[in-house]
Amino acid sequence: ASSRHVAVVTGANKGIGFAIVRGLCKQFDGDVYLTGKDEGRGMKAIEALKKEGLNPLFHQLDISDTNSIQNLQTFLQQQYNGLDILVNNAAIANKVDSPASFAEQATVILKVNFWDTLAVCEALFPLLRPHSRVVNVSSIRSATTYKECSDTIKATIRDPNIKMDQIRNLMKEFEEAAKADQVEERGFRKSAYGTSKIGVRVMSFIQQRELAKDTSRPDVIVNSCCPGYVATDMTSHKGTKTIDEGAVTPLYLALLPPNIVSPKGEYLSENTIEHW
Ligand code: NDP
Repeated sequence: ASSRHVAVVTGANKGIGFAIVRGLCKQFDGDVYLTGKDEGRGMKAIEALKKEGLNPLFHQLDISDTNSIQNLQTFLQQQYNGLDILVNNAAIANKVDSPASFAEQATVILKVNFWDTLAVCEALFPLLRPHSRVVNVSSIRSATTYKECSDTIKATIRDPNIKMDQIRNLMKEFEEAAKADQVEERGFRKSAYGTSKIGVRVMSFIQQRELAKDTSRPDVIVNSCCPGYVATDMTSHKGTKTIDEGAVTPLYLALLPPNIVSPKGEYLSENTIEHW
């Protein structure tokens, strides 16, 4: 296994993930993996960056496919015996014109954005080396969705001692409420995307707290962030930022210098810590 440093970005064949790979290729001293569900789309993205004189590598990763996650884990283990940067960028949003019911959409969105992102973390975190950096891409919608939740749910989300099981349960409760058509009655806001991004933000906070206890791997840092409103397929290109502008905060967090005190376990927007 190589002792070279290595970075992985999920959902990077287009959009903000693609720009995060571009930025890492320019700023990170190590191998940068552009990962994506589809090898064809991934290789096209690699070719585009090669034309810019950059040298990203490709590895297939569909975060919804356990085998695919396992393959990447084995590959990193064998080739690098470690991981230095993980950017969990892959996500989906509501399709406005979807014929699917709210409950069906909620299940699909929570699966990719929360459960599958968590599965990637569970598989790859054992590889994180000292001083590694994890960035989980959340959204400002976590904040707007939180604001309309019940006081009980808000208290769970803000609890400094919250455990992973509690945030898992909160996501399950949302899915069940959606199936029962009782989202608002049960104290949630009717946004599956926003709720999934609350999950990502709280997950990051818990992960930081737990990793900080691991004295065998000092200075591992996890943060979440909002990239801003970015012109991508997800926003039907209505966003006001370019993908490179959207990549600024994720890149700042991925490249935090060694042994910094803050931000750790925080949520950032425009390179600035924000609280619930
Ligand atoms: P895009 O829709 O442009 O890109 C999403 C990427 O995620 C694509 O590469 C897509 O792959 C990938 N993806 C989706 N599902 C999976 C999966 N199961 N496995 C692997 N990859 C997957 O979105 P953006 O670039 O706009 O969004 C990037 C991140 O930023 C997301 O987390 C999003 O929620 C967040 N965000 C975006 C904002 C914006 O204004 N754009 C605002 C706030 C947050 P494929 O092409 O193969 O489908």
